Amino acid sequence: MPGWELIGEEERAAVNDVFDKGGVLYRYGLDAKRQKIFRVDELEKQIAKRVNAKYCQCLCNGTAALKACLIAFGVKPGDEVITQSFTFIATVEAIQDCGAIPIITDIDESLNMDPKDLEKKITKKTKVIIPVHMAGVAAKMDEIMAIAKKHNIAVLEDSAQALGATYKGMNCGTIADMGIYSMDIGKVITTGEGGVIVTNDESLWKKAREYSDHGHECNPNLPRGRDTRTISGFNYKMMELQGAVGLAQLKKMDYILKKQRENKSALKRKLKHISSIRFRELPDEAGDAADTLIFFVQNKEKAKEFASKLAEKGIGTKNLPDAIDWHYAGTWSHIFNDYAEYKGRNLEQLWKQSTDLLRSAIAIPILVNMEPDKIESIAKSMEEIAQ
Ligand SMILES: *Cc1c(COP(=O)(O)O)cnc(C)c1O
Repeated sequence: MPGWELIGEEERAAVNDVFDKGGVLYRYGLDAKRQKIFRVDELEKQIAKRVNAKYCQCLCNGTAALKACLIAFGVKPGDEVITQSFTFIATVEAIQDCGAIPIITDIDESLNMDPKDLEKKITKKTKVIIPVHMAGVAAKMDEIMAIAKKHNIAVLEDSAQALGATYKGMNCGTIADMGIYSMDIGKVITTGEGGVIVTNDESLWKKAREYSDHGHECNPNLPRGRDTRTISGFNYKMMELQGAVGLAQLKKMDYILKKQRENKSALKRKLKHISSIRFRELPDEAGDAADTLIFFVQNKEKAKEFASKLAEKGIGTKNLPDAIDWHYAGTWSHIFNDYAEYKGRNLEQLWKQSTDLLRSAIAIPILVNMEPDKIESIAKSMEEIAQ
């Protein structure tokens, strides 16, 4: 997750350019003052082209993007929305903010949605399914889409961590009915805060856009002050400074992906012979955005020990097991206690398959700037610890 590694002169120049050309920080209006330059519009065009989607909408952050998509699908209070146990807390917050009930599937060894459990969790109330492509690795989209189709349920890809990742040749985020990306500080490219919606469905795109902009229809024949509205909305718009930084970061994305993929496969090659670790299952290894290498050890005690020995050697771990509280639904009783369905229940027990997998997993962050000797030293340390 390395957009932050490459923030530099290009982003600074892009921001300065906003001020040099009129200083209009708002994405709409003041056409002459801004010399007709619309950076958020341009970012939307370029992302759509890059991921091969028909429509793209940039918003203030990825959490807002998830919510706007759920609203576009018509999610109402009392509906059920299914997502997976291993995700960032934002996925569940977006569901909760629509008044819907979060239904959680277990993950399998891909650490993404377990299609077998998905099938069991579908009810008459299920409105949307949200698979998450965690740490740049695609979920099992063929299986998930087949189940959704059979039950006629919409699918929203939480591709917040997987901009540029692919699954069987398609960009993550563009396989289902709608998809979102995040450009927060931890993501493939970053605008500090930033969210993106992609879809090939014009009416879903329009609904999400209108919701995120006070219901504005953006009628080209009317000035903004007299614009028409048909739905109620909210304000989740992106501003021009984010658009400017996003354009500069997008130019670096292919380099980011290339370096991460090289570094991850170099490290993985050096670890292949260690028999006491088992790598995370990758549904499409070639498409991996490759910002994290995850493996399993025998059990949770061993994982704790392994991670603390890595830390002693100055090697950080990411998400697992360090920051599991941010990424595992089993630890979010502050949310689930709001629902009669979950109140007072032992969540880690409820999603035991997930607990067992996550608690025995270790995640090594893969960076863009990772010299060969750094990769070598991580591999050496891991070998020593494994023995
Ligand atoms: C980062 C993230 C989000 C939310 O994005 P923000 O831009 O931080 O609001 C949603 N889902 C997942 C899986 C994420 O990693």
